[in-house]
Amino acid sequence: MLLRLPTSVSEAQECMAEGAVPIGGATLVWAAWQRDGFPAMAMSLRDLPEANVLEPEALGSAVVLHRIDDRVPEVLRRAAGTVGTGAVRRTATVGGNIVGSSLRCLLPAALVLDARPTVLGPDGAYETDLAEVLAKRHLLLGLRWRTPVASGYRKQPAEAGGPPPLVVATAVHTDDEGRHLRVAVRDGYEVLSESAPCDDGSAEQVAAALERTDVGALPSGARDIVREQVAGVLASLS
Ligand SMILES: Cc1cc2nc3c(=O)[nH]c(=O)nc-3n(C[C@H](O)[C@H](O)[C@H](O)COP(=O)(O)OP(=O)(O)OC[C@H]3O[C@@H](n4cnc5c(N)ncnc54)[C@H](O)[C@@H]3O)c2cc1C
Repeated sequence: MLLRLPTSVSEAQECMAEGAVPIGGATLVWAAWQRDGFPAMAMSLRDLPEANVLEPEALGSAVVLHRIDDRVPEVLRRAAGTVGTGAVRRTATVGGNIVGSSLRCLLPAALVLDARPTVLGPDGAYETDLAEVLAKRHLLLGLRWRTPVASGYRKQPAEAGGPPPLVVATAVHTDDEGRHLRVAVRDGYEVLSESAPCDDGSAEQVAAALERTDVGALPSGARDIVREQVAGVLASLS
C-alpha cells in the first residue's frame, strides 16, 4: 500500500482522483484491511494545514482527539474526551470519528454547534452540511461554527459489550432571531437534533417545547436526561 501525505488541497485532490482511500489514525480500518486486504493507495491528511486547524471556531479533520482542548467549545472538548480509551484518543481523528465510526460521539456536539463541514470534491473544497457528509461519506477537511453562549455534554456510563450509551449535547446560541437552545441526542446508533427558543422561557418551558419535537418520542429515561441537561446549560447562563 502506498501512503500519500498531501501538503496542499490541490495535491489531496490529485490523490483522490487517483483513488487514494482516506485514512485518519487507522484505528478502525487497520483490522479490516488486515482481514480483507490493503488498498493500493491511502491518503492521510496529517500534513495538510487545512485539516490541522484547532481554533475557537474551527477544527480540522486530521486533528487527533486527545489534542482537542479548551480552545473549542466545552461540548466538543468533552465529547472528544469521552471517546474510547486514552490510546484510542491519541490516534483517532475527527474525520475518522465523524465520517468513519458508527458511534460518532463527536456528531451530537457538531450538530448542536450547527457546525458547517468543509469537504473536498472532484472540483475542489466546498462547504456543505453534516447530513450530506454522513450520507455521501465525503472527504472531510474540517468543521466551522459560531461560538455558542454556553454548551454542555453528557454521555451515560457504558456497559462493556452493551449498546451504545446515551449521549445528550446542548448549546445555547444568540443570533438575529434571539436566543435558542439546540439539543442533539444519540439514542442507540440514531442521532436526532432539535431546537427551541429560550429568550425568556424557563428551563421547564424550553424542555416542554422540545417535548413537542422528536425529543418527545424518546424513551422516558432519555427525556429525563434531556430535561436535566437543558436545565443545566440554561442555569450556567445566570
Ligand atoms: C477501543 C475503541 C473504543 C472506541 N470507543 C469509541 C467511543 O466511545 N465513541 C466513539 O465515537 N468512537 C469510539 N471508537 C471509534 C473511534 O472513534 C474510531 O476508531 C475513530 O474515530 C476512527 O478514527 P480514525 O482516525 O482512526 O479513523 P480510520 O480508522 O483511519 O478511518 C475510519 C474510516 O473513516 C474514514 N475517514 C478517515 N478520515 C476521514 C476524512 N477526513 N474524511 C472522510 N473519511 C475519513 C476512513 O476512510 C475509514 O473508512 C472506539 C474505537 C476503539 C478501537
